[in-house]
Amino acid sequence: MKMISLNKLSSKYIIASVSLFGLMLFIYGMSDGNQHTKFNTAKSKPLKNLKPHLNSLSSDENEYMTQSHAHLLKQRQKEQLLLAGINIKKDPASSHKWRDTEQALEYRVVHLDLKGAPPRISYFEDLFPFLKRHGANGILLEYEDMFPYTGPYFDSVPAYNAYSVSDIKKILRLAEQNKIEVIPLIQTFGHLEFFLKLKQNIEMREVFSNAGSLCPTHNNTVKVLHAMIDQVVRMHPKLKYLHIGSDEVYELGRCARCIEKMKVENWNRGQLFLNHVKNVARYVRTAYPHVMPLVWEDMFRSLSFSELFDSGISQWVEPVVWNYHPNILMHINSDVWSMYAHSFKNIWIASAFKGATGPDQLLTNFTYHLENHMSWMAIVEQFKHQVNFRGIMMTGWQRYDHFSVLCELFPVGIPSLILNLFYIQNYKHTYPMDTPSKLSDLLQCDITFPPHGGGAQCAFPGARIFNIAQRLYLLRNELESPQTGINNPVARGWLSDQNIKWNFSNPHQNMAYVPRFYFMYGYFL
Ligand SMILES: [Zn+2]
Repeated sequence: MKMISLNKLSSKYIIASVSLFGLMLFIYGMSDGNQHTKFNTAKSKPLKNLKPHLNSLSSDENEYMTQSHAHLLKQRQKEQLLLAGINIKKDPASSHKWRDTEQALEYRVVHLDLKGAPPRISYFEDLFPFLKRHGANGILLEYEDMFPYTGPYFDSVPAYNAYSVSDIKKILRLAEQNKIEVIPLIQTFGHLEFFLKLKQNIEMREVFSNAGSLCPTHNNTVKVLHAMIDQVVRMHPKLKYLHIGSDEVYELGRCARCIEKMKVENWNRGQLFLNHVKNVARYVRTAYPHVMPLVWEDMFRSLSFSELFDSGISQWVEPVVWNYHPNILMHINSDVWSMYAHSFKNIWIASAFKGATGPDQLLTNFTYHLENHMSWMAIVEQFKHQVNFRGIMMTGWQRYDHFSVLCELFPVGIPSLILNLFYIQNYKHTYPMDTPSKLSDLLQCDITFPPHGGGAQCAFPGARIFNIAQRLYLLRNELESPQTGINNPVARGWLSDQNIKWNFSNPHQNMAYVPRFYFMYGYFL
């Protein structure tokens, strides 16, 4: 036996993957400052662990980790280098002749979920004109802890990297310049993890074991929600719509106060839900008459027509009917549509272009999300004479909740977003299976469909991240492959942790294998 050098091989090959994800965040200029809980897996890795892998990209990490003017200039220079060589012949979105002159849906709203890898403000400078060119005319801005809440109920609520007042003013200015309607989303019932995860707010949970659901009858609930609404609405002086969330309230009517309330009022859980949503919406409409509250509608589906109608909720909100599956009618049947048609004057729909096929999804499943949009437009056609569809919200979830890892990063989902924006504007004149062939022109790149082959060169905002994610996908597949990965018998037999720890193995067994690992490890560096 002869010792060979394994110094460059980590005993944990996955370090390459983890480092690459840090690298992706680093290049894109995104960060996640949620550090309020030890369960928050998105907490930043110590930069020193990434530094060896970043040397080829940066000589001054500190400068990149700020939003200073110097940082922005340097980031721009780096992006120019990364995009060098891409032949941009034209802007097909601005010179197209393919878009219908009459849109089936007045609003085409893109969801920006800020609870994971929120973009730096400079990214919006490129993103908003890009979205506008492709037919979007609204953004659903789900702030979570990226809003700079102040006051007695909000100690430690804003993330360390929360947007400042001036940041939000700049977002609004950029949106207005691009004729993009900004619709803020603040959760007011379920999915309030960003607030309820904090120790000082635990008592406002409906049940101790679930940080998602707010207790509607707690003494502080009304004060907190009114303060949140006031601060968000006043930050958006031209607001037309405010989304008040209220989806997936998994814990409802469970605490002693709520049980007593239901008993006194002779309510069931559905009526308890409706009463809270109506109170929140009524506050918005009363305090800010120019603002229409929107609400996720999934909790309505299990109600009877009389419960929904008798509640009077339709006077106060417009529902956003959401579903991310390829066959929506299997989940929201004709009876529900009939109930909504008789209850609400205007209805919004919500699809998904990313972030709905797995909590740790790396690349976007194009086919799945295109089928979801095809299903939605079929429903619009089927019910458009009974229902006034106001618009579509194309959701792109960054994390399933505040305790999970990131799904596809936003730029990774952009090809899917653009593909589906194209489809919903042209579905009457385009065969669905022809739509993907438009993607190359739309994105100004050599992308193939589906783009899992790696190496696609594009020029959309954040395209570099998309490119790296494809290559990371390939690397991960190789690492997990029984032929070439860490489960290969040679790797298990002669490249164990002990072999690597002691820098000791049989070169005869590894001669053919080690160079492959070197290649994979150095693939991105
Ligand atoms: Zn309660």
